[in-house]
Amino acid sequence: MEPSQPKWICNAGKNAVSILPDGSVNVCWDRKEEHLGNIFRGGFSLRDHLVPCSLVHCACPLWAFEKNLHAEAKGETLNPPLPYQAYAHWHITYECQMLCEYCIVTGPDRASDTRDKKTRSLPVPIDDMVKVVDASGLSFYFSLMGGEPFLVPNIVEVVQRLTERHYVGANTNLCAVPRHFWKSINHDRIGNFHISLHIYPLERKNLTQDFIDSFKTMVDAGFNRYNITVVAHPKVIDRIDYYRELFGRHGIAFKLIPMLDGGGAVKGKVYPESYTSDELKLIERDWLEDYFPQKNAKNEKVDVTKFRPRSLKSTKNTMLE
Ligand code: SF4
Repeated sequence: MEPSQPKWICNAGKNAVSILPDGSVNVCWDRKEEHLGNIFRGGFSLRDHLVPCSLVHCACPLWAFEKNLHAEAKGETLNPPLPYQAYAHWHITYECQMLCEYCIVTGPDRASDTRDKKTRSLPVPIDDMVKVVDASGLSFYFSLMGGEPFLVPNIVEVVQRLTERHYVGANTNLCAVPRHFWKSINHDRIGNFHISLHIYPLERKNLTQDFIDSFKTMVDAGFNRYNITVVAHPKVIDRIDYYRELFGRHGIAFKLIPMLDGGGAVKGKVYPESYTSDELKLIERDWLEDYFPQKNAKNEKVDVTKFRPRSLKSTKNTMLE
């Protein structure tokens, strides 16, 4: 019998939730079976208790995305208080135009993931959603992600309506952000934009200039709450000086983050364990520090090269130690 693992105490379900494209609200991405109602159709309510978690790896650590709410859920008093009471990690669509070789969102196999990425997004029933959210009496921080959230047909209206009383942030590859977006929303209600710069998919799809133009439109509109990351695919690392210079010319600076891949992106090689020591010097090794509940529970530092993500060969996430 597996020895019982120390448990990380998480606020998932209490004041942080995961929302899926169909509006279903769940405790978190890894606990999709624990339902909390539907943000479009109603019946939504939060739990009144914390959740002990002993997973090896957490795909979307809600507690870490908004640590103040984690502290508040554990009984700490925030000073000053946050302007919102709940955090919602919203996979608003699975559609994405990039089809990055190191990305599987739905899966578990690439074929079904690609099918989901190629399925056109549905408009969000924003009138119904605002009714449900307002009825909850809570103020939210909605973190939009996907797929690519800006492929949702009525995304500008969704952000406009939600930012009347709530806050919105996003994870985006920036290439589908409508150029008029930044002039049509209240920047004071926009939190952080995590921008993923997918260098090779951009080149493959001839979208590099699009990315640069979209970045310039955002900055020219005066928005500066963003961070930019690049997944450290070996082909990118080989030419990293060239790319730093290419994007740096346009004011685009980025962090290299570890690629988690079970062997699909670089034929047969599993990442991050396959990085060389020289490659690791260029990568933000601590980037995934908060994604390992067992380690976090023991307050142990994570050596990301010891993590082997699940793949078609092994359905389990494992630590090689
Ligand atoms: S640590 Fe991650 S998987 Fe565990 S309950 Fe929290 S959000 Fe869910």
